[in-house]
Amino acid sequence: MSLTFDFDAESAWLGSFKVDTPSALSRGAYGANEGVPRILDLLDKYQLPATFFIPGDTADRHPQETKAIAAAGHEIGHHGYCHEPPPGLTLDEEREMIERGIDALERQTGQRPRGYRSPAWELSHNTYALLAEYGIEYDASQLAADRPYWVSDKGERTGIVEVPGAWELCDSSLFMFAFSPVYLRGLAAPSHAMELWRGDFDGMYAENSDATYVLTMHPQIIGRHHRMQLLEQLIQHMVSQDGVWFAQMGDIADDFRAREAAKTGSA
Ligand SMILES: [Zn+2]
Repeated sequence: MSLTFDFDAESAWLGSFKVDTPSALSRGAYGANEGVPRILDLLDKYQLPATFFIPGDTADRHPQETKAIAAAGHEIGHHGYCHEPPPGLTLDEEREMIERGIDALERQTGQRPRGYRSPAWELSHNTYALLAEYGIEYDASQLAADRPYWVSDKGERTGIVEVPGAWELCDSSLFMFAFSPVYLRGLAAPSHAMELWRGDFDGMYAENSDATYVLTMHPQIIGRHHRMQLLEQLIQHMVSQDGVWFAQMGDIADDFRAREAAKTGSA
């Protein structure tokens, strides 16, 4: 299982919702001010590894929090520069977004991202060719299975491993409230999310089938106390089960690659 956090901060409002008002941006800042410190404390308490997908804009706006995440040993993944939806970008614009994102993460953390999760799980027809060109080893933007698989691009199998997620296992679809620019009802009770999140975990565990449970969260959403309590209760449930591997996304991709190599007999 993998705990993943998309540290979008202001970039989600700027890039996806296309609003730059002080009120909208302050909601993003909550993720840096309150969410990240609480999440780092919780991960430290249970000694769990995690992957943080961080837009370059967040890394540049919040270098202290970004450096703290990396210093705690968590993996840093690419998440766009300013949370730009790739389907709206030209090839050159998407290339620039990928380059600027890598540059910001390397500058602030010293780590070159091995993995990519697209903003809001949206992909363009150019994304995978660009990711391959920039040496990205795995993607976390698809939703097609409960276990890793090879990414296909335009009918061809690529060398990129997919480690898929699910909207059902995401905090934004359940909890995110907004009046504008789109009305989002959000604000689900933590018990509602627990039913979904624990139900999928228990189902995958019972299948005993190398399923990969990827939980996707956002510091500005999960970071509120009542949701942090939900996350802690879920963690307590998962750590109490035998044989669960808590892994960073890059480790899951490596494990898949090794299994595939063993199957085909290639090194
Ligand atoms: Zn995001």
